[in-house]
Amino acid sequence: MAKPKVAFYWCASCGGCEEAVIDLNEDLLKVADAVDIVLWPVAFDFKRKDIEALEDGEIAVSFINGAVRLEEQEEMVKLLRKKSGLVVAFGSCAHMGGIPGLANFWTRDTIFQRVYKEAPSVENPEGITPQERTAVDIGELSLPEFYDTVKTLDQTIPVDYYLPGCPPPPDLIMNAINAILKGELPEKGAVLAPNKALCDTCPRAEERPEKISIKEIKRPHEIKLSPWKCFLEQGIICLGPSTRSGCGERCIKANMPCRGCMGPIKGAVDQGAKALSMIASILGLEEEGMTEEEVKKLVDGIVDPAGTFYRFSLPASLLTRRRME
Ligand code: SF4
Ligand code: SF4
Repeated sequence: MAKPKVAFYWCASCGGCEEAVIDLNEDLLKVADAVDIVLWPVAFDFKRKDIEALEDGEIAVSFINGAVRLEEQEEMVKLLRKKSGLVVAFGSCAHMGGIPGLANFWTRDTIFQRVYKEAPSVENPEGITPQERTAVDIGELSLPEFYDTVKTLDQTIPVDYYLPGCPPPPDLIMNAINAILKGELPEKGAVLAPNKALCDTCPRAEERPEKISIKEIKRPHEIKLSPWKCFLEQGIICLGPSTRSGCGERCIKANMPCRGCMGPIKGAVDQGAKALSMIASILGLEEEGMTEEEVKKLVDGIVDPAGTFYRFSLPASLLTRRRME
């Protein structure tokens, strides 16, 4: 019997999601045995024309990581959608825009200005920036269009499932692959991770006081962090209450607070707003007698609030991007 065809593709991403596939270790050999990989740019030399030559729907599943920033990425994900039975948004950037999505606080022009002209390490006296078409002696060179706005995968093509995380943890990847191979998938649109908040699985939750009131906000490098106390109790912003579990509490175990890469808990429309509302509810409780002025000072202690609350989810949020006009 023919093995199911599988594609892995990357868009605007750091390569960590590719690394997560390698982190399957020996399980990767089992996957390679059970499926026929037809596209995986980081590992094999398949070409776009190989995918174009397939029948529509011939690929059983495409795992696509990264946000959509370039014209070429948009073309490739549309091609993969046409050729695939299932599309899985793999990792935070495909799921919600991820770290590349923070570029939506700027425009293409402001990014090019900084990267190609102003950055201290750049020497570019003629102020050259990437052009979509450049005439050279032997013809014309072309580059894909760099879009003004970073998009999530599902803002570009219909997506069947989401594998969250920066990067998705190996056990969730294997669970997803096994579920696909056995045809035991949940309803379309599901996030393939537990429907619980990270706080529900966090080893520090047991010791956490029932009521927390933050009186001073600190950053992890500013204090000696306790290896067992809840970060919120220590005045460190932790997005555990508003973030989906399933990562194995990776950051918490490394004594760092959660930044929210697994995405919002089920039912939360906007991860940043949910996190903001959670933090607002525990900042200097009224019964502690803090004045409005003191609470304002406390709020000002949050360095880079937009980056803190929307670190992984700006393109997927209600904001989508900063209005630059
Ligand atoms: S807020 Fe963070 S440290 Fe505290 S219990 Fe939740 S996940 Fe754990
Ligand atoms: S602790 Fe938070 S930021 Fe860290 S891997 Fe888990 S969900 Fe992502």
